[in-house]
Amino acid sequence: MSCCSSPVAVDAVSFEVERESWCEDLVPCVKSVVNSAYALSSCSEPGMGELEEEIARKGCEFQRQVLEKSCQLAADNCRPVCPVCGGALSRVSEGHERTVESRFGPIRIVRAYGYCRECKQWFFPADIVLGLSGKATASPTVQEAAALTVSKMPVADAHAVVKRLTGLEISPATMDREARRQGQRAEDLREELDARALDTRGRWEVTAEIREELGTAPFTLVIEIDAWNIRERDGWGQTEELVRRGETPGRWHWAYGATVFRLGERAETQSGRKMILSRGYVMTRRGVDALADQVFGEAVRQGMLVAEHILVVADGAAWIWKIAEDRFPWAEKRLDFYHASQHLWAVANEIYGSGTSEAKAWVEPLLHQLRHGQEQKVLRTLEDLKKTVSRKHRKPVSREAAYFESHRDRLDYETGAEAGEPIGSGAMESTCRQYQCRFKRPGQYWSTDGDEALFALETFWRSGRWHLLFPHAGMIGPARN
Ligand SMILES: [Zn+2]
Repeated sequence: MSCCSSPVAVDAVSFEVERESWCEDLVPCVKSVVNSAYALSSCSEPGMGELEEEIARKGCEFQRQVLEKSCQLAADNCRPVCPVCGGALSRVSEGHERTVESRFGPIRIVRAYGYCRECKQWFFPADIVLGLSGKATASPTVQEAAALTVSKMPVADAHAVVKRLTGLEISPATMDREARRQGQRAEDLREELDARALDTRGRWEVTAEIREELGTAPFTLVIEIDAWNIRERDGWGQTEELVRRGETPGRWHWAYGATVFRLGERAETQSGRKMILSRGYVMTRRGVDALADQVFGEAVRQGMLVAEHILVVADGAAWIWKIAEDRFPWAEKRLDFYHASQHLWAVANEIYGSGTSEAKAWVEPLLHQLRHGQEQKVLRTLEDLKKTVSRKHRKPVSREAAYFESHRDRLDYETGAEAGEPIGSGAMESTCRQYQCRFKRPGQYWSTDGDEALFALETFWRSGRWHLLFPHAGMIGPARN
């Protein structure tokens, strides 16, 4: 087709034949259900479930034909111009066939191929218009189905679930490959988004874009950071016994994660209790520095630059507080209350014996003080104890006293709770558990690249940014929690 020909008209007539044959196909199916209802012979006769199945199955071929025809019409309307520079393509040849697995089954289109002298590259302009990248054999919604299901369950299950719900027969190997390809795309996009948020000017542009969503009411930005172990396919020969003894064999690696959320008052809540307005997630196998960049990026995307107050909550791990001091020096920091209380329990158990009533009697007033604004008393008690405790307990008690001393500015549980802020990093711990449900099943081993691709997909989904990867999906995602 030349560039001055008029576009192909799309009208009802184009689809008339498909519609008629579809209606004809349905008649026997509906007849059989309606007649068996009349006969009421037995409950094993077809009911609504069978009707649903049959209409979906018959409808599928109709939809496949409509999709095929629509794509072909779009391809026929495609002008032979370069998608990069917009110049006319030369050496154009027509009639190149491509088959794509769509959600309704395979469709076949023919389209033109041409060369851009300016860009020194060959193109199929129709592929660009239809959003068919490279040599992908799957349509955009099939790519999405593979990415979504494989990031949530093992490939064999994903294959079975997709087949059951859509009737699509995509081999497990294809699903796996497709999910990883989409995961790689998610990683690339994540890098792009983070680079923008890390850039001094870029981060203000990002903030300007979410201005409307942020509103004008003041909010607190909460950042919770944590890590968990994942098994990978290296360092064979090490046993889990090593892990139990506190040693780390090569195949166990850290997955680092964070959740960032905005706490604020909504007009409708009169109680003054803060509620989560928006929440984002980060999860990576690429180490602490990668986490630091990603959590900073997510904080920017959650409005860090205009937050009234920023709070980091986490357990006692040294690497976490290093990130917190490096990346969020102006933020308030809070040690997870549960971890702090475990450390007080450790002292009680050391001196009075594990789980004894004496240990309980000693620790309870201290836990109460810690929780209710008298953390300085707790610190003094530990300092005094260090000096008076018998020699054999001195070392562990000193260690715990030093622990609390190092976190002394992170123990404001009373004021935090009064302000409606979290005093623990439970939100992040539950996030880690949710990732573990997928990535830490018995007998599963992962490679770093494999993990990271699926982490990236899961994180886009959870953070409500799935549409950035799959624009056709619109704004969807899990319910906010
Ligand atoms: Zn060009």
